Amino acid sequence: MNKLDAHTRLVRKDLEILGIGQPTWVSPRDGIFDVVIVGGGQSGLAAAFGLIRERVSNILVIDENPAGQEGPWGTYARMITLRTPKDLLSIDFGIPSLTFRAWWSAQHGEDSWHAIGKIPRADWMRYLHWYREVLDLPVENCTRLERIEPTGKGVHHLHVIGPSGARRITARKVVLATGIQGGGEWHTPKMVSDALPKSRYAHTSEVIDFEGLQGKRIAILGGGASAFDNAQHALGLGAGSVDVFIRRPEIPKVNPIRFMEKSGFVPRFSTLSDAEKYKVMSSFLRRNQPPTNDTFQRAASYPGFRLHKGTGWDSVRETPIGAEVTTPRGKFTFDFIILSTGLLTDVCLRPELAELEPRIARWGDRFAAPGDDQNDLLDRHPYLGAGFEFTPRAPDDAPMVHGVFAFNYSALLSLGLSASALTGLPYALPRLVRGVADQLFLDDKADWMSAYLSYSEQEFVSEWLPQPGATVETT
Ligand SMILES: Cc1cc2nc3c(=O)[nH]c(=O)nc-3n(C[C@H](O)[C@H](O)[C@H](O)COP(=O)(O)OP(=O)(O)OC[C@H]3O[C@@H](n4cnc5c(N)ncnc54)[C@H](O)[C@@H]3O)c2cc1C
Repeated sequence: MNKLDAHTRLVRKDLEILGIGQPTWVSPRDGIFDVVIVGGGQSGLAAAFGLIRERVSNILVIDENPAGQEGPWGTYARMITLRTPKDLLSIDFGIPSLTFRAWWSAQHGEDSWHAIGKIPRADWMRYLHWYREVLDLPVENCTRLERIEPTGKGVHHLHVIGPSGARRITARKVVLATGIQGGGEWHTPKMVSDALPKSRYAHTSEVIDFEGLQGKRIAILGGGASAFDNAQHALGLGAGSVDVFIRRPEIPKVNPIRFMEKSGFVPRFSTLSDAEKYKVMSSFLRRNQPPTNDTFQRAASYPGFRLHKGTGWDSVRETPIGAEVTTPRGKFTFDFIILSTGLLTDVCLRPELAELEPRIARWGDRFAAPGDDQNDLLDRHPYLGAGFEFTPRAPDDAPMVHGVFAFNYSALLSLGLSASALTGLPYALPRLVRGVADQLFLDDKADWMSAYLSYSEQEFVSEWLPQPGATVETT
């Protein structure tokens, strides 16, 4: 037996000791899942395990990608290690043998764990795959949710396309664990998409043929962590030059996430008032996050690397010799442009939510932000309930919206760093699981109440038979 097999056995034993996998308490409904989780990345997998621990087991996870390619780690994430400190816990639910550290140490030893600086990206993906296997999670890959059809009668029809074609799945609860862009979309500035053929540019979230860019002049627009991930990756694969353009005069140096991790902000963000939440996140968006030092230094160590600070783009046009970019500091021509321009959060942008979207409350419907803090992007964030559930815009919308949970980056303003950041997952997952399980229970409250009041199963079945000759006293 190899070392990982032995560790897998240990985890299974721990699960048995903890009584995980007991029969469900939820009343079955023919042909209806209790919960469908859309997205089989780390959030979706962990949400599934959390529900199984809660004895909600009639569930299904779907993901549009083939197994092993869910989320960014094996596809478009181009950094060598995760950006997060290695000792943050994430999706283990407090079970030591299920942590990344235990998985790593079982294979490479404790000394090796102490020796690594951060978690290697490819190993994080391997760990997620093992997590899914060891927990035996019900994941259907290559299956995409196209549309949620709300019924207003306690279930939602999910129109999906999978390997065997289009079909309809019905679920009482739907968890959208759809990732960092799952509450909107990656942002491509119109200045670029209107001016250039698609062969000239790609967003960092796309698959890019870096082999085909060997010797080429590349521009990267934006100065977030992904900009430098892509710069070092492209230069490492032989790009001729990479010019990174940032609008700010300096790269941000302070990472507000590190403060949130150290303080009580991550676990207790939800206890803040709406005004306080808005203030925190308005500042969070203004500050932005710096790139990691290692990625920046790796990129900067190549002779072909150039950084243009305080240099926004005024316009872009296609010319016979490449894409010409005009900035306040002059014109430049490139063979290819990579956009590190972040994402937009807005449920309007999600095709699967087209029927629900007009009924979903946004922050702008519930809270008027003061002048200095007001931010249109924040106003478009959904105004979520305590368990990540969408809330209705108007009272009449409640039955249609009921039962859909946004466990993705769009929860940022309502519930802080939660879904879509490892930092927040240990606190967010129990909150989501409680929210879903509570709804399942409360939806059937009348049945549970009457079943309880009429409950008559006898637990005490012993009888006392007096020994011969004993004196029996009766009162
Ligand atoms: C490049 C990059 C680097 C990051 N690095 C870090 C880091 O170091 N530390 C950290 O804490 N966070 C990091 N993050 C943020 C966050 O941890 C990741 O985005 C992480 O992948 C989020 O996990 P998730 O499960 O919520 O979403 P994902 O991993 O994105 O998984 C969501 C899945 O849902 C699928 N999906 C979406 N819509 C549908 C649909 N309609 N039907 C079926 N499937 C669908 C997606 O294809 C995807 O497979 C990073 C993010 C990016 C983009």
